[in-house]
Amino acid sequence: MVSSADRFDVMVVGAGPAGSIAALTLARGGARVAIVDRAVFPRDKACGDLIGPRGLQVLADLGIPEPPGLDVGDMVVVGPTGRRVRLPSVPGTTYPGRARAVTRTVFDAALRAAALQAGAEAVTGRAQEPLGDGGRLGGFRCSGTIRDRDVMADVVIGADGATSRVAEVAGLVEPDRVLWGFAVRWYTDDVVDLPAIAWWEPVPRQPLPGYGWVFPGPAGRTNVGVGIGTLGNRRGGAEATRQVAPFVAHSKRIGLLPAGGACRPARLLGGWLKMGMIGTMPAAGNVLLVGDAAGLVNPLQGEGIAHAMASGRAAAQAVLAGPAHAADRYCAALADRHLPYEAVGAAAHRALVAHPKAVAGATRILTAPGIGWALAGGWSLLWNDLVDGAPPGASRAVARGALRLGSMATAAGPTRRWFERLGGGAVVPPGNGRSPAGAEPVGGVEQHDDRLGGLGRFRRLRRWGHLRPSSRRGRRSLCAWPTGPCRRSRRGPETRTGNRARW
Ligand SMILES: Cc1cc2nc3c(=O)[nH]c(=O)nc-3n(C[C@H](O)[C@H](O)[C@H](O)COP(=O)(O)OP(=O)(O)OC[C@H]3O[C@@H](n4cnc5c(N)ncnc54)[C@H](O)[C@@H]3O)c2cc1C
Repeated sequence: MVSSADRFDVMVVGAGPAGSIAALTLARGGARVAIVDRAVFPRDKACGDLIGPRGLQVLADLGIPEPPGLDVGDMVVVGPTGRRVRLPSVPGTTYPGRARAVTRTVFDAALRAAALQAGAEAVTGRAQEPLGDGGRLGGFRCSGTIRDRDVMADVVIGADGATSRVAEVAGLVEPDRVLWGFAVRWYTDDVVDLPAIAWWEPVPRQPLPGYGWVFPGPAGRTNVGVGIGTLGNRRGGAEATRQVAPFVAHSKRIGLLPAGGACRPARLLGGWLKMGMIGTMPAAGNVLLVGDAAGLVNPLQGEGIAHAMASGRAAAQAVLAGPAHAADRYCAALADRHLPYEAVGAAAHRALVAHPKAVAGATRILTAPGIGWALAGGWSLLWNDLVDGAPPGASRAVARGALRLGSMATAAGPTRRWFERLGGGAVVPPGNGRSPAGAEPVGGVEQHDDRLGGLGRFRRLRRWGHLRPSSRRGRRSLCAWPTGPCRRSRRGPETRTGNRARW
């Protein structure tokens, strides 16, 4: 028996930005929420540490103070020729005109603390073994260092990052379609003033399908990294690690890092990115995915924190409005906010990563004298997904025009067709029964997670409809359950009575 202490309205798996904002919003709305993370906080996370304008706006909207960090504005982009363009950072009507560099150790701990202060209950443990509840996902056995704990809830929110266990067990991922990326970062004491991103050709005429970055950070610590797109191939991430030393040499050559500086890549930390929403259904039944788990990473430049926070809030609001229709409501909110951009961005990402020479060509043109300067404002808006809410003017017109052209160019493509399944409200789990491309350790770099290996097995079980009785306590451990429209359980949250308001 699961004790009432372990029974919640909502279980949020993952206490990164997506999970903490979801838990905070739910707790403030009166729901009883467990927020589960396998890590002991404060914990580090591979990241460039830049919180974009829309992320800062979520903090402001929710009244969460900005954690200590460094404000950054304009960004420099450097083409393969070494030519630079300065992309302006301009306030919009719905976001501020700046980003903020905050280490993830500090940022994520602050958001989690805010969620706990709002009333969410912390559980430390890995959500690994799914637990069934009347034919649907009811929770997870959370394996901790001292004891396991079974956490049950009416709604499960997967905020557990790119290789989400929740998405895996709910059958919401179609791995072959996912646009994977892998990135590594390290810190250096070299001081830089502006954040910079560089495309380069490690071998002449053989550009990297990604970029390197040098971002200033708090206390004079600079965040340096390399990220690449690998499409559906999770064996390709090691290339990012191989390019670390060449990128440092290149950065010194073009003056992004001081030539005689201290930068020596050490203590690399890497992580997967799941980009452009494609390949993952964000919700079905009583399971909602947020942040990286839902593939909500900008497919053009890899930003994910702001999307994670906004989707955490949107999922929580959908649940608070009534759990029975939360999945549909949440999908509609995501479609409304993201589809026009992601459909074009994901198609562009796929085309560019498959043809890296096109990246080199495009970035050569965009950084060419005159062109870069003329397009910089629109480029900044489009690339950073800031077109909605941008102030009127030439930059917005350029960005909107490019988005419209992109939309026309991708109208009949497979990426668009995939998105129509979501946009049309058809919340159909992919469930194609195919196993994913295998993952392997990436260049010996420490990673947060490299799983997916169990998914093929899971899908086979799912097709065969196996339910495996749990060896412990006579409960049934569910390997698969219907992810169709949310079923109201006997003690479904919308029928709940008690001392809390209906939530
Ligand atoms: C190298 C790199 C650089 C990046 N740079 C930037 C940047 O500068 N700006 C930006 O906006 N984005 C950046 N991103 C993307 C950004 O890091 C993610 O989009 C963001 O962290 C997503 O937040 P999240 O809450 O969805 O997931 P995460 O931050 O990944 O949090 C997931 C949490 O779930 C926990 N978890 C996972 N599995 C389980 C489980 N089974 N049980 C319990 N807990 C579990 C993990 O411990 C973790 O705390 C970068 C990514 C990488 C890899």
